[in-house]
Amino acid sequence: AKREKRGSFRFFHAEMDAKLRERAKLETDLRAALDGGAILPYFQPVMALGDSRIAGFEALARWQHPERGVIAPDEFIPVAEDMGLIGQLTETILRQSCIAARNWPPRLTLSINIAPLQLKDEWLASRLLSVLTETGFAPSRLIVEVTENAIIDDVDQAAEVFASLQNAGIRIALDDFGKGYSSLSHLRQLRFNHLKIDSSFVRSMDSAESQKIVSAVSGLGKALGMPVTAEGVESAAIADALRALGCEQAQGYLFGMPVPADQLELLLAKSAAK
Ligand code: C2E
Ligand code: CA
Ligand code: CA
Ligand code: CA
Repeated sequence: AKREKRGSFRFFHAEMDAKLRERAKLETDLRAALDGGAILPYFQPVMALGDSRIAGFEALARWQHPERGVIAPDEFIPVAEDMGLIGQLTETILRQSCIAARNWPPRLTLSINIAPLQLKDEWLASRLLSVLTETGFAPSRLIVEVTENAIIDDVDQAAEVFASLQNAGIRIALDDFGKGYSSLSHLRQLRFNHLKIDSSFVRSMDSAESQKIVSAVSGLGKALGMPVTAEGVESAAIADALRALGCEQAQGYLFGMPVPADQLELLLAKSAAK
């Protein structure tokens, strides 16, 4: 029995070793990718439901990996956070997005995502603003999205960061609204400019319950003066239902998948033709 135990320990040990090596390689690769421009934004259209025109684009990070192809953010954002590289990642996504946005009609907004832990960085606003100055992008066109996901163990600190962003003209959206548990208290304590309803409610809108929740959230947005965006819209029926409920904006595969900057031309031409 003793021998068996030792054997399984060795097996376990080897597996741990492999995991650690894999993680170490991921970290080395990620650092190189960030420095070498292999982390880049894809863009997904945000539709205004009223006139069915594009209101703007959300930048979603992708890793163009030499061996593995395109890697989704859920795999590398947490690693970047652990490594203290999330600030650099945000800046590189913002810089590339602003450069791409030079080719868009000036009425279109650009949304980027930040990690909740970045709200602890008192220099966040000035870091973002220096990228905007460098690229000549107007702060009034930028929307910063943050998930409520534990935003916020230090609400006062977050409120200060919010104020410096908003004083500069940058808007803030509460992302994935409804997914967490303390959303309403965040709405009371922090001033958001936009609300994004989590896709889990939107995708299940064939159920009466979800429909009532989406309707109530739209009403909440109206009452608090925050335009509401529904995420994860995949069918025309759901887009129609959202429009009927008075939801202002929608995003989802129905309107467009996230694509690299050079593939936006067709979408933009279609929207301009309307
Ligand atoms: P998110 O900000 O909630 O972004 C929406 C996610 O839903 C994106 O996944 C998008 O591709 C996907 N999506 C959009 N429409 C549909 C649809 O109709 N159906 C379905 N099934 N999915 C849809 P993605 O690009 O994999 O991003 C995942 C998450 O990673 C994002 O969620 C965001 O929290 C985070 N993320 C992405 N880019 C960045 C970034 O630059 N910085 C930070 N800090 N986080 C990022
Ligand atoms: Ca987002
Ligand atoms: Ca979201
Ligand atoms: Ca999300």
